[in-house]
Amino acid sequence: MSLKCRFCGKQAVERLRQYRLSLCRECYVKFYERQVERTLKKYRVVKPGEKVLACISGGKDSSAMLTVMSKLSRTLNFELEALFIDLNIKNYSEKSFNLVKKLCRNLDVNLNIVKTVDYGVDLNRVQRRKVCSACGTVKRYVMNRFARENGFDCVATGHTSDDIVAFFFKNWLSGNLRWSTKFLPRTDGFDKVVTKIRPLYLLSERENALYCICKGLPFMSENCPHAPERDEWKDIIYEIERKKPGFRRSFVTNLIRYLTLTFEDIQEYKYCKLCGEVTTSDICAFCKLRERKNSLV
Ligand code: SF4
Ligand code: ZN
Repeated sequence: MSLKCRFCGKQAVERLRQYRLSLCRECYVKFYERQVERTLKKYRVVKPGEKVLACISGGKDSSAMLTVMSKLSRTLNFELEALFIDLNIKNYSEKSFNLVKKLCRNLDVNLNIVKTVDYGVDLNRVQRRKVCSACGTVKRYVMNRFARENGFDCVATGHTSDDIVAFFFKNWLSGNLRWSTKFLPRTDGFDKVVTKIRPLYLLSERENALYCICKGLPFMSENCPHAPERDEWKDIIYEIERKKPGFRRSFVTNLIRYLTLTFEDIQEYKYCKLCGEVTTSDICAFCKLRERKNSLV
């Protein structure tokens, strides 16, 4: 039996289990864009008048991010440009660049290009098993410095809820607790560090891929030759999501709440109106229980 779109009744392209929704191509595009818009508004991710530098690699996540940000830049009044960091990876960087060029041309977004070799780093000369770690360091450095030196207020990346959950577990289990406070939809900059924003914080890789497919966006379907064959954490997250639809989204939403809790929020307490003991509500649990009991007697 073919599924019908919940909003318009046309044939659905996907059943989104976590939202208990089936949507057609057009309604999914609108639904996805609304999700990103809500993220930007709810968490004040970007402020009107800010100049945003979107870092794009040609992959599905950053291509979706640039496309939806380009649309929202008009309604939420921010400026947007793109940055492609050419990592000089054989059989990969050139293909990615061609896709990125096409996307920026279609969206009419200005594309900035930085070659890591111009900054004195050639990943081809790094030991194979250390390439990804070096690549991460280089990308973070280049995007921050380029943004600052060219007057951008923030750097946008295509991090997804899958990334956030995986980073959280990896860092939590290795005891790196300083990291966690940095991972919010917006992390304000300081000194020479530019503000980082993550517009796809609540969206999953699968939702981003579906958006690219529904919109017919150009994106790299092949992985970087250095990408590990498996990411065990991502596999675990997919498995939990399969059994508990909505796990990722609830996890990251509550992670934001947890990371932004203040000492006062945790310490907030009152005195029970009936007995005067400390409680978090007007009547303490003990008095509520006693009242209920009395009414039963
Ligand atoms: Fe860089 Fe590794 Fe990603 Fe390739 S897989 S882009 S080398 S981090
Ligand atoms: Zn529809």
